[in-house]
Amino acid sequence: MRIVIKVGTSTLAHSTGKLNIRAFEELTKVISDLKNYGHEIILVSSGAIGMGTGKLGLSARPKDTPTKQAAAAVGQCELMYMYDKYFGEYHHTVAQMLLTADDFEDKEKYANLSNTLGRLLELQALPVINENDTVSTAELGIGDNDTLSALVAIGAKADLLVLLSDIDGLYTSDPHKDENAKLISEADMSDGSVFSLGGDSSSNLGTGGMRTKLNAAKLVTEAGIDMIITNGSKPRLLYDIADGRSAGTRFKGKKK
Ligand code: GLU
Repeated sequence: MRIVIKVGTSTLAHSTGKLNIRAFEELTKVISDLKNYGHEIILVSSGAIGMGTGKLGLSARPKDTPTKQAAAAVGQCELMYMYDKYFGEYHHTVAQMLLTADDFEDKEKYANLSNTLGRLLELQALPVINENDTVSTAELGIGDNDTLSALVAIGAKADLLVLLSDIDGLYTSDPHKDENAKLISEADMSDGSVFSLGGDSSSNLGTGGMRTKLNAAKLVTEAGIDMIITNGSKPRLLYDIADGRSAGTRFKGKKK
């Protein structure tokens, strides 16, 4: 299977912005093993701004654009250094791709990015993708990595997109507020009421929330790709997912 896995800042970093070593270790180990099994994996990783915030010793995620971009420049380096180190232990080669909205809109750039991605997979490398935060701003850019990972999944003709979140999946209501909230195991994006279940991000380092995840689901399912939202603090669930067992919430891709 060709699987795009998106991991959010809240999975990779503590609320201090410093790396969550235990989570990082688990995640890179499971992904390495899935690659050893023969799956093709593309990782879309957030965490640049969050880790830059930690590394620069800032007290909270910056709000102004230049500081955000400076934090992203610092954090992206740290992030790739850690991925290289951890995946390297399992003899996997990482490849950084930093993309902007333009790269998906301009035909020639889009062809280049798809070709590079395809070639990296043929070479058994592990593409690690993030938005190029140093040059794109939330207003003009893709803005969040849920959407970015959906665009990547479509461009890479993936079989599956997995969004690793800080929550088990999509619930019937906000589980932080409603103890009767139930996990939805399968959701259909052609049912308009599903959108009303999405809220904004609750973590103070990342940018996503359920709303951007549902937008991502809409994009990929319309392109015929399945998407799963599951809990990033339990990376071993990726084994179940790769074996076709249920975990989190699955959004079925439209049959073509
Ligand atoms: N590109 C941002 C970063 O790496 C994250 C965007 C997001 O959290 O969706 O910090």
